[in-house]
Amino acid sequence: MTKLCVSLVEKDTDSMLSAMHSLPPEVDVAEVRLDLMESLDLARVCSGKDRPITVTNRPVRQGGSYEGPEGRRLAVLRQAAALGADYVDVEVEAVGELGELPGQCARIVSHHDFQGTPADLEGILRRILATGPDVAKLAVTARDIAEVPPVLTLMERHAARTPVIALSMGEEGAASRILAAKFGAFLTYASRAQGGEAAPGQITYEEMLGMYRVRELKPGTAVYGVVANPVAHSMSPAIHNAAFEALAMDAVYVPFKVSDPGTFLAGFEPHDLRGLSVTIPHKEAMLDLMDEVDDLAAGIGAVNTVVIDGGRRRGCNTDVSAAVTAIESAVRRAGLEPLASRTVLLIGAGGAARAIAYGLMGKARRLIIANRTVRRAERLAAELDVEFCGLDEMEALSPDVLVNATSVGMWPRVDESPVPAGMLREGTAVFDSVYNPIRTRLLREAEEAGAVVASGLEWFVNQAAAQFELWTGRAAPREVMEEVVRRRLSNA
Ligand code: NAP
Repeated sequence: MTKLCVSLVEKDTDSMLSAMHSLPPEVDVAEVRLDLMESLDLARVCSGKDRPITVTNRPVRQGGSYEGPEGRRLAVLRQAAALGADYVDVEVEAVGELGELPGQCARIVSHHDFQGTPADLEGILRRILATGPDVAKLAVTARDIAEVPPVLTLMERHAARTPVIALSMGEEGAASRILAAKFGAFLTYASRAQGGEAAPGQITYEEMLGMYRVRELKPGTAVYGVVANPVAHSMSPAIHNAAFEALAMDAVYVPFKVSDPGTFLAGFEPHDLRGLSVTIPHKEAMLDLMDEVDDLAAGIGAVNTVVIDGGRRRGCNTDVSAAVTAIESAVRRAGLEPLASRTVLLIGAGGAARAIAYGLMGKARRLIIANRTVRRAERLAAELDVEFCGLDEMEALSPDVLVNATSVGMWPRVDESPVPAGMLREGTAVFDSVYNPIRTRLLREAEEAGAVVASGLEWFVNQAAAQFELWTGRAAPREVMEEVVRRRLSNA
């Protein structure tokens, strides 16, 4: 089974030991980064360990901090082995000079590239293997996510014969750390806490264990993920992984930071990729990469969900129906059905407004789009053959249903509202696309005025649940998914 190793980047012996002792038993190995320590009692570190340790004394030339004489550096590694360290990590060009180690200590023979992913990965790994390592380690840097699959497949090819660690550093390489067990890695590294990464792209052990369940992944595990750029703040991995866990499914959901969706798909599809969420800026470009596109996605010109089945890619859109469902729930609760007899004012003309307008088209008696930049409202309204106006004109309207599809009121500018409170009336329905915070100023004031409200949280959870159901064919655990969003927003 692939081990989980937490890299410890402490300054002295006491903090190194207390950091190690704070780790849960599910962390199999602790990496002691000697080169980052300012003071060190190696005997105490080795005698005080509460689990196997790997000792690293990385020189500056391989991305570490050790600047002293090479002989001294290697002598410390030999000493660590004599004192009971379980592994030492030594660079391939230094392994000859290190020589045999005393005791039971195993040698991790490594090569690091902090600049990029070299073309000759196989040649570098062969050079490492030729030294007869106990574990071969290759850590390169992914400049693009398409560089990750070759690293993983190289590891997969060799893992049956020799324990191998092959990983891609950097945010683009996160998938290599999460999916390590799927490709037979000897171990995968994690950080102890955010901000305490020993190498670029490390994920905290709490996320590796809790969110990604890395210890449960295996060669056949189905892979899902979100294709985005940036991807760091996406809540989708937390939501979908919680859903997979709740249904005890052998599946994992990965954040993919993608610049070119085409090369990304080509690289990951052969590795059990079954479904994707797609977000900014790839929703439009994804359309052309599909074997088939459902009517809604084709109509609106945006794919936010990809289903991969039997080698075929199907592009879908769950944004539109998820928003309409949330709006219709408020309309129903306000006793305003049928929507076909009602006037809807939609504020905004960006991506969210476009999805909502598309979904409401033909459903309401009147649909009026208002936007700060009137030209954008005009363009969207013309496309859908509905009405439009500027923000200064909307106060004269008396809509039954008011929909905010602007980012006004979103964190951190939570004191703002897209409409004056005087516009909000009893008996109307008000929907806010904003979900952070869940209870926006608009929704607060609407409730105070006696309106029935629906929040962006409903839209968010509806679209995620619809994606889950398209991918898996199973009912989504909605309460679990909603709870994840609520928890993350309250901790934000
Ligand atoms: P977008 O494409 O950037 O559009 C932003 C819209 O907000 C534009 O209409 C813009 O008007 C307007 N706007 C921005 N600042 C404004 C201000 N100070 N005063 C008046 N109007 C302003 O963004 P988007 O993707 O449509 O997202 C809009 C909101 O919907 C965001 O808060 C997003 O988080 C939320 N959303 C929620 C969900 C969900 O699942 N709940 C899904 C998608 C989006 P101009 O055209 O004049 O710039």
